[in-house]
Amino acid sequence: MRLNPAGEAITDDDGAIRAALEQAQPAPLLAAVAQVTGDVSLLRHDLRPDPNRMLEPDAGLDPEQMREARDLAAAALARFRDAGNVRAPLPAAGELRTMVEFLAGGPVADDYLPLLREELALGGADLRAPTWHKDEIAPDAPFAVAVIGAGMSGLVVALRLLQAGVACTVFEKNTDVGGTWYENTYPGCRVDIANTFYSYSFAQTGDWPQHYSSQEVLLEYFRRCADEFGVRDHVRFGTEVVAAEFDDERRTWVVRTRAADGTETAEEFQAVVSAVGQLNRPKYPDIPGRERFAGASFHSARWDHDLDLTGLRVGVIGTGASAAQFIPVVAEQAAELVVFQRTPPWLIPTPDYQQDLPDGLRWLMRHVPEYARWDRLWVFWRTHEGLLPMAVVDPEWQPQDRSVSAANDLVRELFAAYLHLEFSDPELLAKVLPTYPPIAKRVVRDDGVWARTLTRDDVELVTDAIAEITERGVRTCDGTERELDVLIYGTGFEASKFLTPMHVVGPGAVDLHERWGGDARAYLGITVPGFPNLFMMYGPNTNIVINGSIIFFSECEARFIVESVRLLLEDHHATMDCRPEVHDAFNERVDAANRAMAWGASEVNSWYKNELGRVAQNWPFSLLEYWQQTRSPDPADYVLQ
Ligand SMILES: Cc1cc2nc3c(=O)[nH]c(=O)nc-3n(C[C@H](O)[C@H](O)[C@H](O)COP(=O)(O)OP(=O)(O)OC[C@H]3O[C@@H](n4cnc5c(N)ncnc54)[C@H](O)[C@@H]3O)c2cc1C
Repeated sequence: MRLNPAGEAITDDDGAIRAALEQAQPAPLLAAVAQVTGDVSLLRHDLRPDPNRMLEPDAGLDPEQMREARDLAAAALARFRDAGNVRAPLPAAGELRTMVEFLAGGPVADDYLPLLREELALGGADLRAPTWHKDEIAPDAPFAVAVIGAGMSGLVVALRLLQAGVACTVFEKNTDVGGTWYENTYPGCRVDIANTFYSYSFAQTGDWPQHYSSQEVLLEYFRRCADEFGVRDHVRFGTEVVAAEFDDERRTWVVRTRAADGTETAEEFQAVVSAVGQLNRPKYPDIPGRERFAGASFHSARWDHDLDLTGLRVGVIGTGASAAQFIPVVAEQAAELVVFQRTPPWLIPTPDYQQDLPDGLRWLMRHVPEYARWDRLWVFWRTHEGLLPMAVVDPEWQPQDRSVSAANDLVRELFAAYLHLEFSDPELLAKVLPTYPPIAKRVVRDDGVWARTLTRDDVELVTDAIAEITERGVRTCDGTERELDVLIYGTGFEASKFLTPMHVVGPGAVDLHERWGGDARAYLGITVPGFPNLFMMYGPNTNIVINGSIIFFSECEARFIVESVRLLLEDHHATMDCRPEVHDAFNERVDAANRAMAWGASEVNSWYKNELGRVAQNWPFSLLEYWQQTRSPDPADYVLQ
């Protein structure tokens, strides 16, 4: 897999070029070809997507317009070939605006343009890299940062620190980088945001074998990034951080670690970045008798690859995003499969979810890798601006348990129609049709495999509540005991227990987990009052339900953290501590906004709410707003000492 690849020269004949474009999306295609050729006249008004129909697969273009757009792009690429494959210079600001507005189907607010420019990162530019270096602002100041975790978030913050010349050590409990994509090896594991967007802005590639790549491919991508960006050398693998304690006198952090062989160390750092993820500690259901089960059992994030499921009676507890990915594969192997469902997921039809990229698109990505960049923006724009408003609660709308607004009801109609189409058996349909508003829980992508799986003769979907796990299997509340050889927990992660089981102790021996009391909060998801120079990646309220990629958030957080280090170094401060009133006002705003979103208003159970019922996971505002607020810390928000 090549990062930021240059385009290969086009030598194909006109017919081959045209054929290769058949599956390309017209909007990103024309934008990419306009960029490569410098011919913005390709961005014709009559071929623009309809901004009001962005959620439709063809964004409002009819087949004739689609054909016309591809013909136009093919002819332009043929001319480009004939002229010697010479790329036009990168677009100036005005041209870039024209291209972006073509893609968006209309005017784009000025605020958005710098953000979209960063997301595009045309020419392989790293526009979020720090613009300063420690040698220039504080060469002699001792400053070392401990980063905890070498998943997607830890890698990007470590890269940013190193780019700024700040020493950093990354502690990683596993033996490799990748976090989620290293640990979740269950069959069927894949990303559910298109990869052109679920990748770093500064390390884009068109070499994805599928639109939604599998775990192996993502792991390879993050490994590649760690190597190419020189981060791997700074990672101490097989080393778990057990505690981070603030030294009141020295105003530094002491990080205590334990290696796989039991060796313990304590090292001093000026700042600590937790990049331990929200979805890193498996969660098991609170069902009596779990320890009694005599067969094999494991969690989806700890898949037992030594166990051959062929011919066995397998039970799966859970039908969330991971379970929906592995259940169809398990069904192929097991003699019998019993799926225990508490709440059915809404499905979003995605026909190409598991498909390989067609040959034409592969050709396009190789010869015009700019297409991947414009496709990234296409995904960003459509999923971000398109979907968030559909989750906003209209207080006048009734009944709220069905949908939260007219727009949300429209989504419900679409999703429900899909389920009706897929499940003809009324009894099964009643079981799989959610009774809560769409977007109140994570929506699951489906290419038809869910219905194919649940309608198999050897698969049973059980919706009665589980009473207990017995020695032989699972007993539901109606008294039925189903005998099983294997029990698989697809029950998610301890998402609300941020930073556990680490012991984090701030000034005055205040324990972070005691302070939080099960209700983790932070300012911008990054800093907590009373814990100076402690920063979080993918912290509280930085998750999204539908509109975006977590990588976007991590890149924003990394920039904020590195700019915080700059603030400390430039002004010769030892520590920065978030002001409580800033933190509290921010959290009040977030809570109020989350209550007005489908995931906050609905009573449905979800991993977005902590044990106190607060939405501790999700960011309820736009991506633009997070980007704007995290560009650099406002010194007024912090006590600097
Ligand atoms: C199955 C799955 C699918 C997902 N799909 C998507 C998707 O489609 N789109 C999307 O936007 N997001 C998705 N996510 C969410 C998110 O993008 C990933 O979880 C992502 O990997 C988060 O990166 P991270 O680095 O913050 O955390 P992680 O990937 O969880 O990495 C955390 C790292 O910290 C290490 N660590 C933890 N505690 C310690 C400690 N005490 N000491 C040392 N090391 C420690 C862990 O070993 C791990 O390597 C998915 C998550 C899961 C679980």
